[in-house]
Amino acid sequence: MDLGFTAEEEVFREEVRTWLDRHLPAEWRNGGVGGYREDADEAMQRQWQQRLHEGGWLKLSWPRDLGGRGASPVMQAIYQEEMAKAGAPIILGRLGVSLLAPTLLVHGSAWQKEAYVERILGGDLVFCQGFSEPDAGSDLAGLRTRAERRDGHWVLDGQKTWSSGAHYADKSFLLARTDPAADAHKGISFFLVDMHQPGVEVRPIRQMTGGGEFCEIFLSGAVVEDRDLVGEPGAGWKIAMTVFGFERGGLAQAARFERAVAELATLARDRGAGSDPTVRQRVAQAQIEAHVFRLIGLRNLTKAQQGSAPGPEASMTKLYWSEMDKRLQETAVDVQGPYGALAPGSPFAVEDGRWQYGWMWAQAETIYAGSSEIQRNIIAERVLGLPRGR
Ligand SMILES: Cc1cc2nc3c(=O)[nH]c(=O)nc-3n(C[C@H](O)[C@H](O)[C@H](O)COP(=O)(O)OP(=O)(O)OC[C@H]3O[C@@H](n4cnc5c(N)ncnc54)[C@H](O)[C@@H]3O)c2cc1C
Repeated sequence: MDLGFTAEEEVFREEVRTWLDRHLPAEWRNGGVGGYREDADEAMQRQWQQRLHEGGWLKLSWPRDLGGRGASPVMQAIYQEEMAKAGAPIILGRLGVSLLAPTLLVHGSAWQKEAYVERILGGDLVFCQGFSEPDAGSDLAGLRTRAERRDGHWVLDGQKTWSSGAHYADKSFLLARTDPAADAHKGISFFLVDMHQPGVEVRPIRQMTGGGEFCEIFLSGAVVEDRDLVGEPGAGWKIAMTVFGFERGGLAQAARFERAVAELATLARDRGAGSDPTVRQRVAQAQIEAHVFRLIGLRNLTKAQQGSAPGPEASMTKLYWSEMDKRLQETAVDVQGPYGALAPGSPFAVEDGRWQYGWMWAQAETIYAGSSEIQRNIIAERVLGLPRGR
């Protein structure tokens, strides 16, 4: 495992820092735990995305012939880490930028690449992800939304749920069943659906954080032209697997957790709990876990740098950080004593209730991008070689 950075990588780190100093205004920094707030300013998130795109950062890992910089996994990690350290906000079109655009480079038609990729990166076209359904989450292949060929185009009927940002999305990348007679995984296709059409209704779901960041999508006769079918009919599952391959964490999260632990220690001191042995042990444990997480990130990075694709170990990383964050947020709420029960925004809440908000948000982290139970199944079967459960 490689624990150091080369001189060239340190020069690159300095370049990122200098750019951030010039382009990321102080008032945009540290907008909530992990940089995530459902009530965040969407115009600012779009503007931030535009700046990143103009700076060439959204194509950092892309090959040079596609206008990218061909950055190594280590350089990408350095970039993400510096963004996290600077408290950079998330971008409005994050799902399109991080998941769909690279997927279109692999599976999209020439027309789709030309029509969409630059507009996705530049923030002119915002996509949401329409995979999950009321009865198809972990068991995604059980999805029931139908797409039928009628009058020269595809007509979609069904319901999607938990679609983040669907209320402001222009389009959705969405899975629908095109061949009900085929095996569950084979009859699925991948569509790009216009969200601003009569056959699409979006209803935000009120969350316990108070936000309405994710939504239900009702499709009743929504129309998709052939040019917006990605790949062949029936290739949707394979394309979805490519999408999941782009869902990863890394050193950026390590930097966020290290900062969160330092802030937790300050909070404990400020609340007069710094000498309580139980609190001290929990904060120390959080520090140890954040450090272990950094080492896991560096190990994964070393493997990526050596050319290995992320395997089932990615499940260990996801399980580790999401469970760790839950513990960290819980400690932060506990050290506040009765104040920990106050809702974010309450005039008496400590630090405007940001830790309570973080605690609530952390409950979602062990669900999205594969729940903890699903990750444990993968680790049991594919890492430890245990027999499949029933
Ligand atoms: C914040 C957030 C944002 C999201 N954004 C999107 C989005 O933009 N687009 C989108 O399509 N989806 C999105 N999702 C949905 C997410 O992908 C699903 O919630 C997730 O796949 C789990 O599916 P489910 O909610 O249907 O739960 P279920 O699959 O019904 O699971 C319920 C419980 O049963 C457990 N379980 C299920 N199967 C097994 C098994 N085989 N073995 C052991 N335990 C099992 C699960 O771990 C869980 O505890 C989002 C979710 C969250 C929380």
